This record gives sequence, C-alpha cells and structure tokens, in this order.
Amino acid sequence: MTVWKEDAARDLVLNVGDRLALLTRGEGSHVWDGDDKRYLDFLAGIAVNSLGHAHPAFVEAVAKQAATLVHVSNYFATPPQLELAARLKRLAGAGIDGRVYFSNSGAEANEAAFKLARLHGAGLHGAPERPRILALENGFHGRTMGSLALTAKKAMRAPFEPMPGGVEHIPATIEALESAIDDRVAALIIEPIQGEAGVVELPEGYLSVARSLTLKHGALLIVDEIQTGAGRTGQWFGFNHEGITPDAITLAKGIGGGFPIGALVTFSAASSLFTPGSHGSTFGGNPLATAVANAVLTEIENAGLVENAAARGAQLREVITGIDSPLIDEVRGRGLLLGVGLTAPVAGEVVAAAQELGLIVNAANPYTVRIAPALTIGDAEIEEFQTLFTAALAHVQATVAASEEEKANA
Ligand SMILES: *Cc1c(COP(=O)(O)O)cnc(C)c1O
Repeated sequence: MTVWKEDAARDLVLNVGDRLALLTRGEGSHVWDGDDKRYLDFLAGIAVNSLGHAHPAFVEAVAKQAATLVHVSNYFATPPQLELAARLKRLAGAGIDGRVYFSNSGAEANEAAFKLARLHGAGLHGAPERPRILALENGFHGRTMGSLALTAKKAMRAPFEPMPGGVEHIPATIEALESAIDDRVAALIIEPIQGEAGVVELPEGYLSVARSLTLKHGALLIVDEIQTGAGRTGQWFGFNHEGITPDAITLAKGIGGGFPIGALVTFSAASSLFTPGSHGSTFGGNPLATAVANAVLTEIENAGLVENAAARGAQLREVITGIDSPLIDEVRGRGLLLGVGLTAPVAGEVVAAAQELGLIVNAANPYTVRIAPALTIGDAEIEEFQTLFTAALAHVQATVAASEEEKANA
C-alpha cells in the first residue's frame, strides 16, 4: 500500500511537500489510513472538522440536501441560504443591518473583504479617499492574489509580485497601530489569534484599541475569523473575547465542518458598500453548502460545543503543561486552538513521531506544534492524546539528547 506515494508524487501539483499518509476514512476524532492504521486526529483538517468525521448531523444534511436541491446560481435564493445568512448574523451579533456574502473558501471570503475595503476607500459619494490597508506582521489571510497581498510572509508573496497595492504590514502591537493609523486608512485586517504564524495571540486589549482607533479614523475593522470562528476558541468568535463589534468578519474552515464554504459578514454601515455588480461567485451560497453549514452550526449550538471547546481547551492545556518534557516551553492559544511552543526547533520531528504512534498534530513552524481537534472531544480523546503526545515528545527528546551527547564527545 505504498503505490499511492508514487501516484501522489507523479500526479499532484508540487505545491506542498510529500503527503504524510493516505487517509481513507474517519469517524469521530479518528481517521484510518490505507493500511487500516488508526490515528487520533487532533488537527481536524486544520480546525475544519468541527464535529469530527462522519458526524450523523453532517452526513444527514449532505444526503438530504443532495437529494433535494444542490445548485441554482445566484439569480435565485434558497431556504438553506437564507437560514444560514440569518444564523450567521445572529451568532456574530451583526444586527438587523448586517449582511452576508457567501464564498467557497477562506481566501475567497478575504478577497471579498479586500474589495469591501477598497470600496470603503474609493472616495464614493464625496467620502475621503483611503488608499491604505493595514494588516499585521505574521498575519495569514490566504493564497489567492488579494488575500496573499494581505498575508505578511514575504517568501509567500515575492514570487508572485506585483501584488495588489496599498497593503502595509505593521507589528502586532498597540504602539505600532497607534503610529500607523490615520484618516487615509480604509481598513485594518487582523486575526484574533494568528493560527498559521504558530497560534500567536494578540496583545491583551489589542482588539479594543483597534476598535476605538479605527472608529476614530473612519477605517473598517475587519476580523479574519476563518480559523478562530465557529466556537473554536471557546467563544463563537475570537472577537467576542474582548466584546467588540467589528465592521466585518470573514469565516470559512469550521463553519462547514469539512464542507467547503466561506462567508463575509458585514455589520451596519459596511453592509451598504457592495452594490449590484460589485462582486459575485457561481458556487457561493449554494443550497448544499449552506444546508450543511446550518446543520454544523445547529449541532454546535445544541450540543454546547462552544462551551465544550472552552472546557476541553482548559483541560488540554493543563494536560500539556503537566507533561514532564524539557521540550515544552509554553502553551499558547485559546479553547481548542492551541500551540505548544518548543524549546528546540523540532516540531517536525514531534509531528512525525506522533504520526508513527498514531496521533495527528501539525507543525505550524519549527518551534510550534499546533493542536486543533474536533469541538466534540471528551475525556477519552484527551487521555489518548496525553499518552501519545507524551510518548512522541519522549522519543524526540531522546534523539535530541543523543545528538547533543554526540556533539559533546566530538
Ligand atoms: C486558513 C485560513 C485562511 C485561508 O482559507 P482557505 O480556505 O485555505 O482559502 C485565511 N485566513 C486564516 C486566518 C486562515 O486560517
């Protein structure tokens, strides 16, 4: 069962490294590979499979809607689409004036947000022109051209320049924001927790200051909740932790529980920026994707999974902090989006050792193991994680110690 590696190496675009395994099925927090080896999945498709794998609510929603109505184009509305728009407005607190644009991915949701910022800065109806867009250093917003321009990492952008202009990346500090912002800024876009950067939290109070400064200067505050939304951090959205009201949020990953869907939710005045013809998507908001997202979000609400994310996150953090390994430096993040900061650049080795033992986690960078399990996890999954993660760390620590001894003896 290794022929798949040759197939992958020959047929798939070389945009990522070697695939780690051939996964063939999943159930709850477990997945199986082609050799029927079982893994505890504590990555959940990068914070995507909110209900785990093959959850009955997800399966039923896909089957029922597939047999009812799957696609109609944006010339028409459908019941699941309207239900999801109303649900997202309610959950986000977008108010009666709020509006929802549906996309098929996170990057596309951020493309819509980028265009929203441009419209806000275009100087329409006698409003001042605002050519600047602020984003944060280490921020990640996607790989399409617009979302890439918002993404900070130079190495990701450089081969594809020129980027859409006007975006400036500033340090994620209150001081940097204070000195950068002025009346020529159309929007500030931020992640409440920088997931791809290695689960890095914003400084305490940043969201509140960002809110008051953007209000003061007439700029939009756009919060990228693609990784932090849908209950992942123990609140419905990351911005809820500081009780602010943004002008727009972008969503994807967890809201579909594995079904591709994204959304831009606009609040109050920002909701009137898009007008007929300013944006669109053939598949966006189709009845199948929106029906599944409705089912996923309904299950998150009914089963108390936001509260579970908060409680299990605290429990998991305690478990990790309690592991006696010199490799563990700190635990960052909130709820079930955690980053284990390491004392040595061996995240890749830890991830490989974990996989060997039957645990899926992710190296967000060489110093960080990212953990983002399904929001449905309980004691059994946490216990299994503790055993496997402890063993993986011990294995890597033994290798690190051996190589240090070798160096000392050389
Ligand atoms: C994953 C992610 C994106 C991009 O979403 P895609 O669905 O991969 O296009 C954008 N922003 C954040 C914060 C993300 O975590």
